[in-house]
Amino acid sequence: MSHVRVRFAPSPTGFFHIGSARTALFNWLYARHTGGVFILRIEDTDKERNRDQFLNLIYDSLTWLGLDWDEGPKAGGAFGPYRQSERGEIYRAAVQKLVAAGRAYEKDGAIWFKLLGERHEVYDEHRKKTVTKVGVPPVVIQDLIRGRVERVEDEDFVIVRSDGSPVFHFVNVVDDIAMKVTHIIRGEDHLSNTSKHVLLYDGFGVKPPAFAHIPLILKSPEMGQGKMSKRDKGALIEEYQQRHFLPEALVNYLSLLGWNPGDNREKMPIAEIVQLFDLPGVNQSNAKFDGKKLGHMNMLYLLEQPADRFADLAREYFRQQPGGFAALADEAYFREVMLLAQPKIKSIDELAAYTVYFFADDFPIDAKVKEKVMAKGDPKARLDELLAALPAADFSSDAAIEEALKRLATEKGLGFGDYQAVARLAVTGTNAGPSITAIFRVLGKERVLRRLGAFLAGN
Ligand code: GLU
Repeated sequence: MSHVRVRFAPSPTGFFHIGSARTALFNWLYARHTGGVFILRIEDTDKERNRDQFLNLIYDSLTWLGLDWDEGPKAGGAFGPYRQSERGEIYRAAVQKLVAAGRAYEKDGAIWFKLLGERHEVYDEHRKKTVTKVGVPPVVIQDLIRGRVERVEDEDFVIVRSDGSPVFHFVNVVDDIAMKVTHIIRGEDHLSNTSKHVLLYDGFGVKPPAFAHIPLILKSPEMGQGKMSKRDKGALIEEYQQRHFLPEALVNYLSLLGWNPGDNREKMPIAEIVQLFDLPGVNQSNAKFDGKKLGHMNMLYLLEQPADRFADLAREYFRQQPGGFAALADEAYFREVMLLAQPKIKSIDELAAYTVYFFADDFPIDAKVKEKVMAKGDPKARLDELLAALPAADFSSDAAIEEALKRLATEKGLGFGDYQAVARLAVTGTNAGPSITAIFRVLGKERVLRRLGAFLAGN
């Protein structure tokens, strides 16, 4: 077993979004790749903004995505508790330690971290007051992704507010030390905090861990410009869960937001991603969210699901649809319909609309399609001919149905298409969907004849 210990440290202050999921995933991948430990730590010190709802969402989302944690809430571990709200004693002891070592002091009710160096007072134009600057060299961060980053920190900073609450930088570092974290993998928005963190490590006399700041996720062009935010459409993990996306497709897609296997492969089993993932392989440049590509990835995964699993997924979805029980009434029929739809949809939540005419006789008819189909040739005559010929046809296979339709067309000196378009309109109300022969076979002769007759009578 390697010594690698990484952590995902979310704050339960909002919905679980793509960016958080990607950070969690990269940590998890690195832990699994190295045979290390993946820790979940809840950074819930902000009492005002924390919500139980959001905490549960973190657990649920990680579990749904398959990102299991080795240490943390629910999992336990030797370095707990893993919720910062339960670690007050540890922070108080850590403050005492810094004070005793001469690296922290009290001023105006707050506790400040003390920088080491020559001090001088200067007037700060911007803040319109005199401040104490400390003459120190810039902090150097050797980031595994960004490379060498330098940042000047030349003022003491608060680590415990006057109300007694410790600040993010402080608890974050105290916990990373206590939990023996070896690699900090987090969003690039935290790079600017890292210089303070490095100084705090120094204050505790501990060598900082390795840092790996992963690139931001930008909006796709149709979403606008800039960084993807929680408010953007498609930004929340919950949304994909509700739409019955396959978590493995989402995970595969997220792994490509800032990383690639070094060739241009995209769809890869998770075991292979684990094998290939490494921090130096993470890109420096920002990643772009692309909902279309995610939909396509989901489609690829749906396509390869074994029939039983696809039917299970579909059944679960229909159970949650208003009126979905009607579709589930006949199990064998439901399964046949779902297998027709499987290669045609991008996500499970398209199933109800895609298969509506299989489960109800009062399906919607697309007016534009109807206008077009009825304007060409003599569709009513074709319906008459179908109604005359089909009762004797063999409906047991697509091939038999195709043969019957072709025989009829040949007999009348017409083409397959002359019958196909109007038949499809009459039995499905659209011009899209699975092949007409498959639709006929699954609907069954009786239902097909009934619909052809009803359509002819009504038009
Ligand atoms: N609680 C911080 C966040 O949610 C964690 C930052 C870190 O990973 O160090 O952004």
